[in-house]
Amino acid sequence: MYLGRRYRLKVIPANAADAGVKLCGSHLEVRCVEPTPTSVREAMEAWYRARARSVFAARVDDMLATIRWKQLAPRMRLQAMKTQWGSCSPTGKITLNPWLVKAPRDCIDYVILHELCHLKEHNHSPRFFKLLDRHMPTWRQRKARLDELAEVILNL
Ligand SMILES: [Zn+2]
Repeated sequence: MYLGRRYRLKVIPANAADAGVKLCGSHLEVRCVEPTPTSVREAMEAWYRARARSVFAARVDDMLATIRWKQLAPRMRLQAMKTQWGSCSPTGKITLNPWLVKAPRDCIDYVILHELCHLKEHNHSPRFFKLLDRHMPTWRQRKARLDELAEVILNL
């Protein structure tokens, strides 16, 4: 899965210079020197992390333009987690789960905005949800969709 779409995995033996993952239409092509379940999984994980870094940074940039309490991109890191999509530290560092990049953009945006709101309201107070409501009135639907996908995304 990538950005909410399912892709068929095509594993292709290749030499080291051609190794890597590429999105080709409805396929994800994984080129490995000696394809094994482990090497394919490792190649996919590296690809997801790279895509996550790029997609999340772009979505954060877009969303910063719509909020007023933060102008510059917050410090961000990726961390694979089993039960959480993201978190925000008291010092304002945002952690995002790289597997979130498997979810549709709408859901990614919801998680990012949720964490950006924590830069202003460091809790789940009524003021926090007011802020979220104001900037994303549809967040509940997006969250529900993500909750439905969670099992598939986090166990792949
Ligand atoms: Zn929260």
